[in-house]
Amino acid sequence: MTLTLTVHRGTQQIGGSCIEIEHEPSGERLILDAGRPLDAPEGATGLLPETLDRERPATVLISHPHQDHWGLINELPPGWPVRTGAKSAALIEITGDYTRQKYGGTLKTWDSRSGPIALGAFTVTPYLTDHSALDAYMLLIEGGAGEASRRVLYTGDFRRHGRKSALVDSMMANPPANVHALLMEGTNLRSDKPVISETELEREFVDLFRRTGGRVFLSWSGQNIDRTVTIYRAARLTGRTLAIDLYVADVLERIAEGTGLPRPGFPNLKVVITSRLASWLRKRGRGDFVSEMAPHGVSADKLASGNWVVMLRRSLIGDFTRRGVTPRPEDAFVFSMWRGNLDEPYHAEARDWCANAGAEIVQIHTSGHAAPADLAAFATAIDPRWLVPVHGVKWDDPGLDLPPVKRLGDGERWTVP
Ligand SMILES: [Zn+2]
Ligand SMILES: [Zn+2]
Repeated sequence: MTLTLTVHRGTQQIGGSCIEIEHEPSGERLILDAGRPLDAPEGATGLLPETLDRERPATVLISHPHQDHWGLINELPPGWPVRTGAKSAALIEITGDYTRQKYGGTLKTWDSRSGPIALGAFTVTPYLTDHSALDAYMLLIEGGAGEASRRVLYTGDFRRHGRKSALVDSMMANPPANVHALLMEGTNLRSDKPVISETELEREFVDLFRRTGGRVFLSWSGQNIDRTVTIYRAARLTGRTLAIDLYVADVLERIAEGTGLPRPGFPNLKVVITSRLASWLRKRGRGDFVSEMAPHGVSADKLASGNWVVMLRRSLIGDFTRRGVTPRPEDAFVFSMWRGNLDEPYHAEARDWCANAGAEIVQIHTSGHAAPADLAAFATAIDPRWLVPVHGVKWDDPGLDLPPVKRLGDGERWTVP
């Protein structure tokens, strides 16, 4: 029995992840992630790595609901089953609904408490982990039994400073035994950007909400649920009400079931019913959802004054302006995403709209990925025979004390020794 590992994309870049593990002699294959490259032009197709053989069957496992890990599932052969976490599937579905790139197949799902899953010649154990995406998993893949077995641990994307850091800590304290190969992400290698905890971030929001006389406009990713929780908690602590848009309400409604996550109906939380998004949803058969939100809703003109924390994105500016909601000097604007996103007009316009009115402009954010020291500590705790670098651009000279590194090139086949 052998396992052969091929990183089709990701040995030299962040995003577009696609990794294959093949079991011999059965010839069965698992594909870990089918990610869209981050620099792919909008609407571009034909992006699956050329080295990925599409003639033979394979099962695809999606580690978490970020597009650089699942964005190419529509390009996969229709017969290939695609599996992911249950809440991850819900988020992938939402993105499909809003971008009209609906996945043509049916996602099979696992539960965060599933335990090991038998998939033909493989046994796969998903480990819920800490990342800026909800329902993100590390995947332990085992082939064969006893002495001859081989075990590969794929970290997906992870961090150790978010709201679920305890999951990573407990895995480090009690690591899976005999990991032959650890496929680890390295997004933040050689980065000295401050990595602060989501709890520390909450304090920064509380400070800002307290010192701001007017409203706080806020841009963040509606699928970054850790951040939504952080912002909501800070609003409650300071007696403000958070006004989310219909999209964020839709996200929370579809994932909150069975969790304590905030959702429409919670105190200090209102849904802004803007005419543009409401009619867009009605046209797509979501009229019932819009009606269900009405009891928790607030019309945009109510946001013209008061101590609201208002979700802001470019597509809301038109509706807000028409209803008399415009920024003033006593307001503040927070950009709670990666700074590089401000290069895009979509994000910069919301900031400029507030800046031109004289509002205070603030960045409050922390990375969704592990700091370099946490990467080293994690790899050391897992103690694999080989560390295989993925999802990074500084792996040739990471500047860290790491287990033995097996540096592969994209598309290179390597039999796990
Ligand atoms: Zn990623
Ligand atoms: Zn990610």
